[in-house]
Amino acid sequence: MKAAFLTRPYNIEIREIEKPDIKNEDDVLIRVKSVGVCGSDIHYYKEGRIGDFVVKEPLILGHETSGIIEKVGKKVKNLKEGERVAIEPGIPCRKCDYCKEGRYNLCPDVKFFATPPIDGTFCEYIVHPSDFVYKIPENISLDEATLIEPFSVGIHACNLVNLKPGEKVMISGLGPVGLLSLLSAKIYGGIVYGIEKNDKRIEVAKSFGCEYVFDTKKIKIKEIKNSLKEKVDVVFECSGFSGLIEETLYWVKRGGRIVFIGLGTDFVNLNVTKITNDELEIYGIFRYVNTYKKAIEIIDKNKIDLKRLISKNFSLDKVKDALEYIGKNSDCIKVIVNP
Ligand SMILES: [Zn+2]
Ligand SMILES: [Zn+2]
Repeated sequence: MKAAFLTRPYNIEIREIEKPDIKNEDDVLIRVKSVGVCGSDIHYYKEGRIGDFVVKEPLILGHETSGIIEKVGKKVKNLKEGERVAIEPGIPCRKCDYCKEGRYNLCPDVKFFATPPIDGTFCEYIVHPSDFVYKIPENISLDEATLIEPFSVGIHACNLVNLKPGEKVMISGLGPVGLLSLLSAKIYGGIVYGIEKNDKRIEVAKSFGCEYVFDTKKIKIKEIKNSLKEKVDVVFECSGFSGLIEETLYWVKRGGRIVFIGLGTDFVNLNVTKITNDELEIYGIFRYVNTYKKAIEIIDKNKIDLKRLISKNFSLDKVKDALEYIGKNSDCIKVIVNP
């Protein structure tokens, strides 16, 4: 089968490798059909690392995956050959305290696609444990199914802060994760505001029911706090940009919650006195946990059209172009590779 390897920064090689096969009776073999390009893939492509995770050997990128079941192991009961599926990319150890407590996203031994040294899914076939593979209904396309992964981040954020109907939510940064967090917050009953400078993203945010978007082409970030009629209950910071991160404290009301979702700046200046005086709750989120089934149900039941997030499709041979497309096209939201 064909697979796209990152061999060094800015270099992708399409190689012919052996097609994987089922080793474990609980596994399924999947023909990969769609893979979303994530910010993390682009980071590895350009820098060869994210923090402590360094690409030392050639690595297959891609983790937002959907496909069709080609073969099932003897013990598999939840899936059948030919079914269309979304694939949850992390396999936890299932034995540690975190796994047992149901917070398997924090498992120190999780094997997550496209995180060195674990290969991702820019390839034709993968083998995966059946309980991390989910059948998708007819009205969700295989391309849309890749968005269940970033959508899961938004659902996890809502779960973590226990978002309640009627609460006001500010979302800073309306890239794919920001927009899908917006959608999650709306579904949980939130009244949602956004901060973004890209016109295309602002337009999509409004189509998703965002009440108002602060356009940072027109308003200085530091002035947003003064133009808020009422402070919000929750902030989802999805941009990872220090200028916004530092301002989050001033958008939220006393006792409010702030969730840091976007990655970008490691160190920022946060007003700790403000955090204590206002008794703010600060959350970090790492991927997601137990969200896939719920995400699929939400998209299906609410007939959510995720297609408008997809900007362009590329074949497996064109993974390099796919990884570079977003940086070159400001109107691009999500790019899909179809192996
Ligand atoms: Zn992702
Ligand atoms: Zn574990």
